Amino acid sequence: MSETSAQLDAAAASEHVDRVAPPDLEPLRMFLNSDNRFFGVDYFDEPDRLHRYLRGEKILGEEDRIETAGLVRLRAFRDALRAFLGEPGPAVSETLNVAAAGFSMVVEVGPAGEVELTPVARDDLVARIAAASLAAVHRAVLDGRWARLHICQRPDCQWIYYDSSRNKSARWCSADPCGDVMKARAWRARQRGHTEAS
Ligand SMILES: [Zn+2]
Repeated sequence: MSETSAQLDAAAASEHVDRVAPPDLEPLRMFLNSDNRFFGVDYFDEPDRLHRYLRGEKILGEEDRIETAGLVRLRAFRDALRAFLGEPGPAVSETLNVAAAGFSMVVEVGPAGEVELTPVARDDLVARIAAASLAAVHRAVLDGRWARLHICQRPDCQWIYYDSSRNKSARWCSADPCGDVMKARAWRARQRGHTEAS
């Protein structure tokens, strides 16, 4: 087995090039897709792969590294946010509120009068990622784009995509690849082979 997990991750990412979000929402979308159900991989299970993934998505800088306790907090936050996207309701909102309450934010005004929501704990990487995600959610809900972030309805996929169609009617993450369940199975089989070989 010559493929590295980095190559496999790159292959996984290239399967879902369709239906990306506008640039200011794309990091949020890909943060949520760190739970990649299409390929049966949750990057949080393997911190090294998670760091590589988050760097690839420009969510983390090259030198950034999240400690174990931070990973636990961030994962709980991601799961709450993903549930809020997929199954909104009072209980889910409350869970997200509890997770988000750990990341206090302030409105920061820049020199040119621009405003930004930033974490109070600026040196906390986890707070920075959570704050950026929450700020993106806030923007997207206010301007209506939140309704365009969908979870693919194919149970074997559940990839989060941005639906730019006029009537927000796309039900799947892409026209074709996600229907190719065999591709996913082959990938999982390769991945297992790699895990066992390494
Ligand atoms: Zn899909």
